[in-house]
Amino acid sequence: MKRIGVIAASITMFFGVFVSSADTFRAGVAKGNITPNLGAMIIGGFRPYPATHVHDDLWVKCLVLDNGQTRMAFVVCDVLGISRAVSDEARQRVQQESGMPGANILVSAVHTHSAASAIGNRFSLKPELDDYQEFMVCRIVDTVRCAINNLEPARIGWATASVPQHVFCRRWFMKPGTMTMNPFGSTNDLVKMNPPPGSPNLERPAGPTDPQVCLIAVKSLEGRPIGLLANYSLHYVGGVRGADISADYFGMFDDRMRQLLDADHRTPQFVAMMSNGTSGNINNIDFTKKPEKREPYARMREVADDVAQAVHVAYQTIQWHDSVPLGVSFEEINLQLRHPSSEQLERARGVLAKLPPNAKPSSLEEIYADRILMMPASPQRESFPLQTFRIGEVGIATFPVEVFSEIGLELKARSPFKPTFVVSLAHGYFGYLPTVEQHKLGGYETWLSTSRLETEAAPKMIEQLLGMLTRFKSE
Ligand SMILES: [Zn+2]
Repeated sequence: MKRIGVIAASITMFFGVFVSSADTFRAGVAKGNITPNLGAMIIGGFRPYPATHVHDDLWVKCLVLDNGQTRMAFVVCDVLGISRAVSDEARQRVQQESGMPGANILVSAVHTHSAASAIGNRFSLKPELDDYQEFMVCRIVDTVRCAINNLEPARIGWATASVPQHVFCRRWFMKPGTMTMNPFGSTNDLVKMNPPPGSPNLERPAGPTDPQVCLIAVKSLEGRPIGLLANYSLHYVGGVRGADISADYFGMFDDRMRQLLDADHRTPQFVAMMSNGTSGNINNIDFTKKPEKREPYARMREVADDVAQAVHVAYQTIQWHDSVPLGVSFEEINLQLRHPSSEQLERARGVLAKLPPNAKPSSLEEIYADRILMMPASPQRESFPLQTFRIGEVGIATFPVEVFSEIGLELKARSPFKPTFVVSLAHGYFGYLPTVEQHKLGGYETWLSTSRLETEAAPKMIEQLLGMLTRFKSE
């Protein structure tokens, strides 16, 4: 017995020498608080309102991976969206401070609808940061640096799960003659976003859902969970109390994962990150039924628990790797921006002209008229960031928009990496990305100013992202 003990000790020592070499796979996580002051304007609906209570804090969360050749960071922020300037500035500062290439960092928003704005003026040509955006940049930089400080030898693996019961297409075909007027004065839309649940006028949903949850997990060589990055295609859940600040189910998922993996009270702190997949046309409302009255946060907790439970089951099936190939690619795509026609501009001016002096636009028609009049300031064409990652056999593709589920399903089917998942709202916020077919159906997500990229943007972006993923295979 003693002899076996000696052999075991010498193997450990040998292993100890091996793991400290340059090719050691390492991982680190960190989180930084970005909760705004009360009174900050909560966005997500058509009319912003001031926050009066913090239900749960908002965070920047970061996972850093390093295989000795490549270092990459994944950042998710508990906000509705981030401007491109926030991502650009934060990544540049991380590069200056740490030497990690800014192109190897993914900065995305989770899309909680109960947070202050980090989008800034979405139609402005000036990328200057406001106070909250500057604060967020600092917290992103610090959080990435802390995750780098927390790097430790690690093992990595991945898995997928399915949670179909919480995703619903929110665009519906309506019975003929029942479509309400849109803010442009037309009833020509063929589908309606968020129709009345349980209404007899509903015909059928206008698109598929993607029930898949993907996860990448890292643990220490002793088996202590370090952190995980998950991805699910659900817009958000909502159901907060009053004017609360909350990270929605994205925050509750982190709490629940920590409990399930028995990872509470660890140093460094365990972090479970939930990124937003392709949820531009997907939410948590079952439109076939009349809505149930629920206590604030009850629905959100149910979704977070179910997703965490499914991730926990999948976690048990993970095949752990001592190291994996890591690849990252950051490119731009040049696309046309949509602009209003002279008739649309004229109509918008007419709508706003009827407002009493000093009154703010409040009806949907007035809000859209106001937005339409801001659009001519944007350029005819613009470059937009696209990023891909390879982590072993996992592929990740990112978009700076709210992406329709069909686009994620197509990328998952055609990508050379299995699994592949999409992170939306990455490196900017440029409205919705419907497919070409969905543009033809109309509805909220396709309306001018809600949708800003050319109607052919989706196939162009898909092809470029697939090319970027495919090149990892030949490296
Ligand atoms: Zn939203």
